[in-house]
Amino acid sequence: MSKLVIVGTVAFDAIETPFGKTDKILGGAATYIGLSASNFNVDSAAVSVVGGDFPQEYLELLKNRNVDIEGVEIVKDGKTFFWSGKYHNDMNSRDTLVTELNVLEHFNPIVPENYKDADVVMLGNLHPAVQQGVLNQMTKKPKLAILDTMNFWMDIALDDLLSVIKNVDVITINDEEARQLSGEYSLVVAARKIHEMGPKYVVIKKGEHGALLFHNGNVFYAPALPLEEVFDPTGAGDTFAGGFAGYLAKTGDFSFENMKTAVIYGSTLASFCVEKFGTERMQNLTDKEIYKRLDQFKSLTQFDIELT
Ligand code: AMP
Repeated sequence: MSKLVIVGTVAFDAIETPFGKTDKILGGAATYIGLSASNFNVDSAAVSVVGGDFPQEYLELLKNRNVDIEGVEIVKDGKTFFWSGKYHNDMNSRDTLVTELNVLEHFNPIVPENYKDADVVMLGNLHPAVQQGVLNQMTKKPKLAILDTMNFWMDIALDDLLSVIKNVDVITINDEEARQLSGEYSLVVAARKIHEMGPKYVVIKKGEHGALLFHNGNVFYAPALPLEEVFDPTGAGDTFAGGFAGYLAKTGDFSFENMKTAVIYGSTLASFCVEKFGTERMQNLTDKEIYKRLDQFKSLTQFDIELT
């Protein structure tokens, strides 16, 4: 079975959308990635840090979905990373209200011994120096290294980010961040510039407008499934990344053709994430539900046309 190392925040989030507001609930990039990847039966491990204030039951939740948590350090006298965001009425954009790094400020990641030879490494949203620190610990070069990041790190740690971007095969990033990173408005030009920074594959996530995969002058596009209920987009990007990485780790095929399917899996899983607040919808997702939605995805995107 393929091994997958997942890096990212394990966090408290407080979210406000037009449909409601939450107090501190379970969140974090590694949490969403782990829950999403757990649907592929890969041997995965999360590398992160939390404070003594973090409920054990939240960690158990990951463990119960077969995500190894040996690499999640608990700093007993520290506070867990906290993020708070408020969505605009269209839910396509949000403002970050609070980012408290807390225990993340002095985090030294440790990859569990048994996962240092993992085939796939998913570097989720976290300080780019920590992402690089994880890559440095791998005893053999991963077959696939995927990186996700956000504007926060572009603003405060751009040099570190550019260094780690050089060392990955795939970057997953949202449209606004792709524009910020490249300085280009056109996503096609932005993808080309990001290619030049290192990654052979560039995935640009466009929220409810789907996702684009760029490689060697080829582009693939997957729409997002039109949904009846969208309550909270938080974690959709990470859930996409978890589905993408989980599917690739499971199949062990890192070709462009297979990455197209990985984009479909990522989009499908993200479509569940947004239906409830926080991680709620992802906690008990079943294979049957995923299968049904993949089928809907297929009919949404399939058409025959005779070109004469
Ligand atoms: P997404 O909606 O996919 O962009 O991810 C939202 C998740 O990212 C939330 O659960 C937050 O805890 C986490 N997050 C927010 N800001 C940061 C940051 N600067 N670094 C790492 N994770 C973050």
